[in-house]
Amino acid sequence: MKIDITSILYEEGKSIDIDKELDFSDIEFDGVKLSTPVRLVGKLFNIGGCIEFNSNASFEISYLCDRCLSESTKILSFDISERFKKTLDLADDQNPDIICFSGNEIDISEVLINNIFMNIPSKLLCCEECKGLCPVCGKNLNEGECNCDTRTSDPRFDVLDNFFK
Ligand SMILES: [Zn+2]
Ligand SMILES: [Zn+2]
Repeated sequence: MKIDITSILYEEGKSIDIDKELDFSDIEFDGVKLSTPVRLVGKLFNIGGCIEFNSNASFEISYLCDRCLSESTKILSFDISERFKKTLDLADDQNPDIICFSGNEIDISEVLINNIFMNIPSKLLCCEECKGLCPVCGKNLNEGECNCDTRTSDPRFDVLDNFFK
């Protein structure tokens, strides 16, 4: 998505408020999908010869729990801070922390997608206490116990077993 920054480009100290919703529902982030648009609230700010982009991004993701594979959702919210600089020759600027642009528009889509990738947790569970699946029968143990014996050779349990025989 491109933002026209003509009104702040040549005047240090000027800013543009951003309050937008962006749809990334067609992109898959390593098996994770965005189930709501990304709400972006922040500012573009002309400072020190650069355009600073500071914003909060919030949205809901949908995914399969890493342990029990059930469909789950979670709200993510994080801050983005990036710096853009206008250059005539895009190959000119070698500073990797500054994103170059030409013309009077800044494209924030790529920056946003990179930040979403960085902020999606690598381990996603349906809940902290997820019990996962039984390794024997595959039952979702959050829905109840199964009758499989998964504690085969623990002597502490043998004592109890003998007691009940
Ligand atoms: Zn789970
Ligand atoms: Zn089982």
